[in-house]
Amino acid sequence: MSARIIDGRAAAALLRAQITEQVAALHYRPGLAVVLVGENPASAVYVRNKDRAANAVGIAAETLRLPADTAEADLLELVARLNADPEIDGILVQLPLPAHIRPRAVLEAVDPAKDVDGFHPVNMGRLLDGLASFAPCTPLGVMKLLATAELPLTGARALVLGRSQIVGKPMAALLTNADATVTVAHSRTRDLAAECRRAELLVVAVGRPEMVRGDWIAPGAVVIDVGINRLPDGRLVGDVAFAECAARAGAITPVPGGVGPMTIACLLENTLEAARHRRGGFPKI
Ligand code: NDP
Repeated sequence: MSARIIDGRAAAALLRAQITEQVAALHYRPGLAVVLVGENPASAVYVRNKDRAANAVGIAAETLRLPADTAEADLLELVARLNADPEIDGILVQLPLPAHIRPRAVLEAVDPAKDVDGFHPVNMGRLLDGLASFAPCTPLGVMKLLATAELPLTGARALVLGRSQIVGKPMAALLTNADATVTVAHSRTRDLAAECRRAELLVVAVGRPEMVRGDWIAPGAVVIDVGINRLPDGRLVGDVAFAECAARAGAITPVPGGVGPMTIACLLENTLEAARHRRGGFPKI
């Protein structure tokens, strides 16, 4: 194996330590409201991890649990209350929502200045425009990993594999804003392997276990694996066949221990930033 391993756990620990220090220097505790509707077990784990991580850095996080049969109107009323609450700086509504609730209606109800997940169309639009915004935490985490690994982006040929609202599209916008030359590939892309082989930087977010093979990787390329897949035997793997790709890549993120830990750290950073701006009287959005 020749590739340098990009250590997301270490980068996230460093970021959390910086956030802890910055929060301790404030004369208030930033507030984060995490809203969980229903009993989805994976969501319950994510929410618990976010709540714990936030409290560990000094953010006052509170999880609001609502039953699965909560009416959309009641959820919207809760979001409106949180929008108006001066102690709350960040609001996160855990997805997926039960089928009878329109996720867009809920995400669009969140005050963009408290939208620490970066899913509100105002934040998405501002991101595309290169204006101050809250960027979605996973692609933001990827940008921070690239920065800590000191990987130069200007002019780099980047391929983003996947075009979801929460990863692929904002990832492409962030890389474009950072002066990379970006291609976005998806399920309709012709000859995906050839597209991948042209990339100096490959960010993969497809949700298909180990889909990207070693011979898709240009020698020396940087490979960022966003995927998190649980195999039937219980193993956790990415969207990239790690050993094969690490044999050709210049640098690569592992799964677990790569992008995953950065996502929550970026949520904490977005919350701190929302608090500073809002309580300082100059909302970011
Ligand atoms: P989505 O399912 O929303 O999007 C997947 C994207 O991959 C789509 O754009 C789809 O194309 C494309 N795709 C699917 N199959 C193929 C294929 N065979 N060939 C080419 N493109 C394909 O997934 P997400 O973006 O939400 O998540 C992607 C992965 O990242 C998942 O494994 C998820 O668990 C993980 N994830 C990890 C996070 C973290 O914290 N590390 C956070 C969020 C997600 P099309 O648009 O044409 O359908």
